[in-house]
Amino acid sequence: MDTILDLQQVSKIYKSGDRSLTVLDNINFSIAAGSTMSIVGPSGSGKTTLLGLCAGLDRSTSGTVELHGTRLNDLNEDQLAAVRNQYVGFIFQNFQLLPTLTALENVMVPLELRGEKNIKPRALDLLDKVGLAERSHHYPTQLSGGEQQRVSLARAFSNKPQILFADEPTGNLDAETSEKVVKLLFDLNREAGTTLVLVTHDLELAAKTQRIIRIKGGKLVE
Ligand code: ADP
Repeated sequence: MDTILDLQQVSKIYKSGDRSLTVLDNINFSIAAGSTMSIVGPSGSGKTTLLGLCAGLDRSTSGTVELHGTRLNDLNEDQLAAVRNQYVGFIFQNFQLLPTLTALENVMVPLELRGEKNIKPRALDLLDKVGLAERSHHYPTQLSGGEQQRVSLARAFSNKPQILFADEPTGNLDAETSEKVVKLLFDLNREAGTTLVLVTHDLELAAKTQRIIRIKGGKLVE
């Protein structure tokens, strides 16, 4: 099976003044293309940091992160952004929608960045998939948390990402919306072969993925 993501001896150390904090300590794992995986562990154990490194949103202090055959460590900021645009979708814990853009415009952004044509109908179609076609002209502040999460999902899907990283995708959602979001994620995996990497506290959700890794105190413990 092809490997889409490979981490070798990855560490992340934050420095402030003369103090340093080792947040990730010698992490090694790889992920097969098209598979599903969860990262679990206590709060503050480094899960979000790890997800950011894997997605090319942040850089490791040492070790290598290879995404789709490209060593992210070797890239400058522009090259890193290009890799993200081409391969990666990301769903943030706090949604991170652009507040001055409507739901539709938020979903159009990645399509624009890729220089694609005919983006409005495609963005509308994506919003329709997440059940928000009627809300396309609403701004993020006019949407509930669950609706914002679904917009951020539609935005992440718009890249047709080969790998989708989601940080607590159901964290702020009620049971019903959470079920919808989870279904959308796994449909994407089944239908488009998108690799899913989830950070979650929800062990029921984690159990739905093919593999679970546990982080504790910055170390991979199982
Ligand atoms: P988790 O997602 O498992 O809750 P995080 O990856 O968010 O954990 O955080 C792990 C640790 O790294 C925490 O102690 C947090 O305070 C610290 N941390 C995260 N980001 C930064 C940063 N930019 N600067 C300094 N410390 C950070």
